[in-house]
Amino acid sequence: MADGRERPKMLIADTEDGRRQLKNIFEAEYQVVETKDGGDLFAPMSENKFEVALIDIKFPHAREFVMRLKSDDHISEIPVLALVSNLDDGAQAMNNGATDFLMRPYHPLITRHRVRNIVDKFMVERLLAHSHVDLATLDPHNHVELDRLTGLYNRDAFCQRAAALMQTNLDQKYYIIYFDISCFKAVNDLFHVETGNSILRTAANYFKRQVDPSVGLCGHLEADHFVMCIPQNKINVGNMLDGLDGAIQALDISHNILFYAGVYPVNNVDLPVDQMCDRANMALKKIKGNYMNRYAYYDDGMREVMLQDQMIVRDMEAALAQNQFAIFLQPVYNVKTDSIESAEALIRWFHPINGMVSPGKFIPVFERNGFIVKTDRFVWEEVCKFIRQQREETGQVIPVSVNVSRLNFYNLDLLEFLLGLLEKYDLESWMLKLEITESAYTDNPHQLMSIIKAFREEGFPVLMDDFGSGYSSLNMLKNLPVDVLKVDMAFVRELEESERAYMILKFIMMLARELGMDVIVEGVETKKQLDYLTSLGADKIQGYYFSRPLPVPDFKKLVESKQNK
Ligand code: C2E
Ligand code: CA
Ligand code: CA
Repeated sequence: MADGRERPKMLIADTEDGRRQLKNIFEAEYQVVETKDGGDLFAPMSENKFEVALIDIKFPHAREFVMRLKSDDHISEIPVLALVSNLDDGAQAMNNGATDFLMRPYHPLITRHRVRNIVDKFMVERLLAHSHVDLATLDPHNHVELDRLTGLYNRDAFCQRAAALMQTNLDQKYYIIYFDISCFKAVNDLFHVETGNSILRTAANYFKRQVDPSVGLCGHLEADHFVMCIPQNKINVGNMLDGLDGAIQALDISHNILFYAGVYPVNNVDLPVDQMCDRANMALKKIKGNYMNRYAYYDDGMREVMLQDQMIVRDMEAALAQNQFAIFLQPVYNVKTDSIESAEALIRWFHPINGMVSPGKFIPVFERNGFIVKTDRFVWEEVCKFIRQQREETGQVIPVSVNVSRLNFYNLDLLEFLLGLLEKYDLESWMLKLEITESAYTDNPHQLMSIIKAFREEGFPVLMDDFGSGYSSLNMLKNLPVDVLKVDMAFVRELEESERAYMILKFIMMLARELGMDVIVEGVETKKQLDYLTSLGADKIQGYYFSRPLPVPDFKKLVESKQNK
C-alpha cells in the first residue's frame, strides 16, 4: 500500500470463478489467501492472522467450520461471511454462526461495502472487548476512526467530530459539503481497482492540504463520497473544485473525472451530522452529471422530498402486506388493425392517508433500497392472475408487459421465479413480456446480455424500454438481441418542434426494421403526434391519446367494447 502499511489478510474459499471475482474486488485492499479445495479450512486459519474470511458453504468442511466458530475463542473474533447462491442458504449459514453472507453473482460495490462494514464493526467490538476503551476517547490517529484507504475520518468519526467542532464554535457559520465523482463506477470498471483507489487517495490528500485541521475537517464516507465541515468564510467551493480537478488531472488517467459538490449551510447545529450530510447530498444529486453546474446549495424544497422518501421507506413493507399496491393496465394499440394488441402493467400505490402516490416518487426510492425486487415480483404475479382470469372469462389472451427493474438481475433465481409463475397460473411465456430499461446496460453489459438471452430462450419477449434516452443506445443494439424497442417519450414530446427528433425517430424505425425488431412508441397524446408517427411507419402506440393506464376492471371493459364494435 502507498502509505507503507501492510494490507490485512483475507481468506477466500470459493469456486475458481468465485475466487477470481472476489480477488478482483478485494486485492487492492487485502492480501488474499485462497484455498482451492476447501480441504482443511482450519489450517490456513491457524497459520495466518486473517482479518476476514469468505467461505463457500458448499465446501465439504465449511458447515462444520462455521459451526465451530461459536465455540472457538480465537476464530470467533474473525468475521466469517458465507458465500451463497440463494437467500435460504444465507439464512441457514447465519443460523450456523456465519456473521453475514454474500450472494452470487457478486456485485462489486455492494460486496466491498458489506465486507468493509462488517470488518469495521468487528474491529470496534474487539477493541471495546479487550481494552475497555470508550470510543469518544480514542486517539485521533487510531485506525478505527480513520478510513484505511484515504486516511481521512470515516463516517462515524467525521460525524462525531464535526458535531463537536460546530458545538464549540457556535458563533461561527459552517458548511457541510458533500463531494462525489461522476461516473466513478465507470472508472472502476474501465481501469484497475488501483486506479480508482489512487483517484480517491489523491482527492483525500488534496482535501487534507486545503483544510486547516484547526478550523475544519474532512471525511471519507464510502466509495467516491467525501464530506467536509468548514467555516463558511474559509472556502470558495468553485475554486476548491477547480483545484481538485487539477490534482486529479495530474494523475493522467484517460477518462474525464469530475467532482461535484452539494453544500448544506448549517442553520441548526443540533441536527445530527449524518442528516446534514444527507442534505448536502440531496443538493448534490440535483446537479450531478451537469457539466455547467458543478455545485449546488441545499434548500428546504429538497427536505420535502426527503421527508416524502422517508415516509415511503417507513410504510412500504406494510403497504405490500396490506394490499395497498395494485396494477393498472395501459393498452398498446395497433393502429393498422385498430385493436389492442397488448398492455403494460404499471404499479399504483393507494396510501391510506396520502392517497395515490405516483410511481415516479416511490419507484426511485425502491430502486435505491432494493424493495423494488419485491414489488416487481408482486406486479408480475398480479399480471399472471389477470391474464389467467381474462382467458377464463373470454377465451382470449392479451399479452402484458411488465417492468423488470435492473436490481432483479442480481438475483440468481429470477428466471426460475418467472417460470414458476407461468406454471402456477398455467400460462405460456409469450404472454408475459419483459421490459428492461436501456440504462441497465451500462451497469453490467455482459450479465444483461446473458440474462436477455436466457429470457428469450425460454420464449419471453424482451422489450427495450425508454430506448434512446441513454448514452449507449446504438452501441447496445449491436449487442443486445431484443424483440421490441420502446421509443422514449421524449422523442414524441419534441416531434412537433424539432426536426432532429423527427429525423432520429425515422432513423430508429429504419434501423429496427433492418434488425427485425418491432417498435412501440409511447407517450402519444395528440392526433398530430399520431399522424407524424404513422407517416413514419410506426403503428404500435401507447399513450394518453388512446388511453391512460386503467384499473383492471376498466381495462377489461375497454377490451370488451373494442371487440364488440
Ligand atoms: P415507464 O415504464 O416508461 O412507463 C410509462 C409511463 O408513462 C407510465 O407512467 C405511464 O402512465 C406514462 N404514460 C403513458 N402514456 C403517456 C402519455 O401519453 N403521456 C404522458 N405524459 N405519460 C404517459 P407511470 O405509471 O407514472 O410510471 C412511471 C415509471 O415508473 C415507469 O415508466 C416505470 O419506469 C416505473 N414503473 C411503473 N410501474 C412499475 C413497476 O411495476 N415496476 C418497475 N420496476 N417500475 C415501474
Ligand atoms: Ca415500461
Ligand atoms: Ca418507457
